[in-house]
Amino acid sequence: MKVYPTDTIRNVALAGHGDVGKTSLVSCFLFDSGAVNRFGKVDQGNTVTDFDDDEIERKVTISSSPCFAEWNKTKINFLDTPGYGNFVADARAALRAVDSSIILVCGVAGVEVQTEKVWKWSDEFQLARMIVVNKLDRERADFNRAVESIQKSFGRVCIPVQIPIGSEKDFSGVIDLIHFKAYQYPKDESGKFQEVEIPESMKQEASTQRQALVEMIAEQDDALMEKYFEAGELSQEEVLQGLKKAILERKIIPIFASSALHNVGAHPVLDAIVDLLPSPAESTIRMEVENKDKSTEEIKIDPNGRFSAFVFKTFVDPYAGRVNLFRVISGIMKADHAVLNVNKGTSEKIGTISALQGKLATPVHEVYAGDIASVAKLKDTQTNDTLAETGAIAQYSPLTFPHPIISFAIEPKSRGDEEKISTALHKLADEDPVLRFERDPQTKELLVSGSGQLHVEVVVARLKKRFGVEVLLHPPTVPYRETIKAKIEVQGKYKKQSGGRGQYGDCWITMEPLPRDKDFEFQDKIFGGSIPKNYVPAIEKGIQDARQRGILAGFPVVNFKVTVFDGSFHPVDSSEMAFKIAGSMAFKKGMEQAKPVLLEPVMHVDIFAPSEYMGAITGDLSGRRGRMQGMDSSGNIQIIRAAVPLSEMLNYAPSLTSMTGGRGYYEMNFSHYDEVPSHLSQKIIEEHKSKVQHEKEEE
Ligand code: GDP
Repeated sequence: MKVYPTDTIRNVALAGHGDVGKTSLVSCFLFDSGAVNRFGKVDQGNTVTDFDDDEIERKVTISSSPCFAEWNKTKINFLDTPGYGNFVADARAALRAVDSSIILVCGVAGVEVQTEKVWKWSDEFQLARMIVVNKLDRERADFNRAVESIQKSFGRVCIPVQIPIGSEKDFSGVIDLIHFKAYQYPKDESGKFQEVEIPESMKQEASTQRQALVEMIAEQDDALMEKYFEAGELSQEEVLQGLKKAILERKIIPIFASSALHNVGAHPVLDAIVDLLPSPAESTIRMEVENKDKSTEEIKIDPNGRFSAFVFKTFVDPYAGRVNLFRVISGIMKADHAVLNVNKGTSEKIGTISALQGKLATPVHEVYAGDIASVAKLKDTQTNDTLAETGAIAQYSPLTFPHPIISFAIEPKSRGDEEKISTALHKLADEDPVLRFERDPQTKELLVSGSGQLHVEVVVARLKKRFGVEVLLHPPTVPYRETIKAKIEVQGKYKKQSGGRGQYGDCWITMEPLPRDKDFEFQDKIFGGSIPKNYVPAIEKGIQDARQRGILAGFPVVNFKVTVFDGSFHPVDSSEMAFKIAGSMAFKKGMEQAKPVLLEPVMHVDIFAPSEYMGAITGDLSGRRGRMQGMDSSGNIQIIRAAVPLSEMLNYAPSLTSMTGGRGYYEMNFSHYDEVPSHLSQKIIEEHKSKVQHEKEEE
């Protein structure tokens, strides 16, 4: 395959809410540019970028996938990203690997929740941007209304550079305000447009809007402004250059119109990608480098530097094995060379480098700075690693990903598969930076956490398909704890002095509550040798062991302090064992008197949804014992911040989806432990006791 120098490359991620048509638009780009010779359709399961079985089956993009096209002698790398809430984190990695994003907005629904999210990430990475309003063929699609919703959310820097010709099922072409031309598309999905006269009835409107666009371009640059005042217009060359500069500086974000389903409107977007979006050499993005001494610096894409690359994604291909997608940040990557994995400190042998067209790999012998490519079968390399020539660079700062919001306990269907599950989960987590799994030390359950139920279900499907292990999913057991509310004084005395060798241990302790951030403290206040020093650690050990199982429902006991202040011993019968037992007896007796209560984990939850759902969401939250902590807004999207007990959030994802018709999402992470209200704690205690009883009977 041809090698493309840095200034002949464009890297673009397509991002937006789920189902808005990203995969379909990429399909148009590939077909119209001749990169593929068949127009792939999502509904027929034959697009280039959604090739995974799980994606075809569910008709959603789960994983970002790369492809490329050549247009006007320029190589355009596209990353088709997931927009569905469960998988959108993967879009974040893709956005980190490009210079520009194309944000798709639905012509019917306007800006949606995930649109806001990918926009924020595009801001964070300082990406140049274009917007495409898609699905304009649909009933009730309205370009102007979509533009209003875009401007409301993202400001008036977003400005149409096209006017659609016809609407809904008659949407058949676009007027291009940049070149002041009109294009009409046939109904056969061929994308073979014809340049036509701007329809008479639209001329006035088109002129007015073109004027507004030119004025806005002029306003971004002093020299252009001066020229515009003097001459009353700008040359086409000035319009293009001015627009390109304004897009790079994110002072203008152009809005295009399309119907990806019918292949209408794709070629002007391809033209704009080449003419108006920055090449990596022009790009304003910066990669942060973390030096050994933890200091950081930012660097630009550098074609002349020594070789370095950032791995933004790892996935497993059924044939090629583990594949790493990387972007060359400086220098040139060459096939059949050894490089250093800076993070792991190991040498990796790069064999074949490939450009990916969906799952199809075409070998390339070298890749220039700014370009994206893939390499298979590296030993240790995975997402977030830096590959470089030895000594070229410290490592690029790893990309952070959103926290998982939902956990399930998983259990193998056949006993003996435990080992296999954990190996398989390790492999899946290598390619999925949001997926977490751990054994809960308290409940002993194997917890798998992801960004939503569907995410975890896909993990389960992959465990079966790729690794042949079948598992059951349960809601996780809530890790309750116990603590005390009163300070008390008790004696623990263990005495066995009839027959054989006797046992004698006796201690007096106080137990008192500690703040929530202190787990346990033990203090020795024995004066005058009432208990010899060497027995005191045994008392503590007895209490430590005993507090693993509290007296209310067997949960660990936390946030308390024990002081041992008195006791007695026997010169012959006392032993460490006897004092250990005495300690645990004192603890158990103490717990009963010290007003024990249950504690439950409380989560910090941020909920995002269009404002019309606020009433329903807050009402529902109070039913879940949620405490509101604040509200924010961003465009039409409201953000509710609340503290809600974990036990009330286990089934939140489907509830929020049904409350908001799929337009809300949430993020959640652990906040603190709080006391369970007394009317609920009795129920929890009984449930737990019967569960323990049940388990005993099963054994
Ligand atoms: P993505 O999730 O954003 O990648 O969206 P897809 O490209 O997978 O499309 C989701 C659904 O919308 C599929 O059923 C497509 O056929 C359909 N679709 C995509 N673009 C258009 C469009 O322009 N018009 C109409 N009517 N449907 C579209």
